[in-house]
Amino acid sequence: MKRLLVLDNSAKNDWTGFVFRYTMINEILGYGLLLGVALFIPKEIRFYFGFDLIRLIPYSLIQVIVVFVLIDFLDYWVHRIEHTSTVLWEMHKMHHAPNRFNIISGLRTNPISDVSIKRILYALPLAIAGSPVETYIGVQLIRNIMLSLQHSELKWNLGWIGKYLLISPMAHRIHHSVEREHFNKNLGTIFVWWDKFFGTWYEPQCDYVPEIGVEGDELNHPNYLVNIYRSTMASLEKLLAEINNYWRAQSVRSN
Ligand SMILES: [Zn+2]
Ligand SMILES: [Zn+2]
Repeated sequence: MKRLLVLDNSAKNDWTGFVFRYTMINEILGYGLLLGVALFIPKEIRFYFGFDLIRLIPYSLIQVIVVFVLIDFLDYWVHRIEHTSTVLWEMHKMHHAPNRFNIISGLRTNPISDVSIKRILYALPLAIAGSPVETYIGVQLIRNIMLSLQHSELKWNLGWIGKYLLISPMAHRIHHSVEREHFNKNLGTIFVWWDKFFGTWYEPQCDYVPEIGVEGDELNHPNYLVNIYRSTMASLEKLLAEINNYWRAQSVRSN
């Protein structure tokens, strides 16, 4: 917490990430830079696939629990895609840039991936399942609390709760670790189950605190907009390389 008052590059970025998140600048940038495509596509998906299957469940409490778990399951897979897709990783890297934590450093994100692309990725499953607004707000609230705890430098592994139920601060620290064996581990947001089931779990040790961050310091520029620009350009470069590789492979096949 004290670290937020010492305005070094890291804290400046953390504060700007906080302001961008809670004044909706992220939304304005995220939707604006993609010319509103991320508003249009989910609307169309909802029109054609808005089955709201959740309504088939008779009790509202069970509906809420099912949607809650479903959103956490989607969070896991979207986060996993952000790590495995070279294009999305370049933007998600902004979240991994801090080399020390405080309660708001988890809010550092690239608005294009965090607002627009995520909205598109969630659109189909949420249209099919349906998601009552109250549940969605509840999930966001709990997510934000978890996010603050997980990025707070607390050396907690939460005992058996951290082992069988919730992603603890130490488990999420593994996710941000610079050590190779920790890469792409502990991708869950709230529950530990998905990592355990899909083979990405790494048991944190309470007495071992790994360093965090990513290689290079280019996303820790004191001007937050520069970091957004750099991560977006790196992502665009990867996208063009992927397209180029694809066409090259196609032309080799046809020759
Ligand atoms: Zn990540
Ligand atoms: Zn994180």
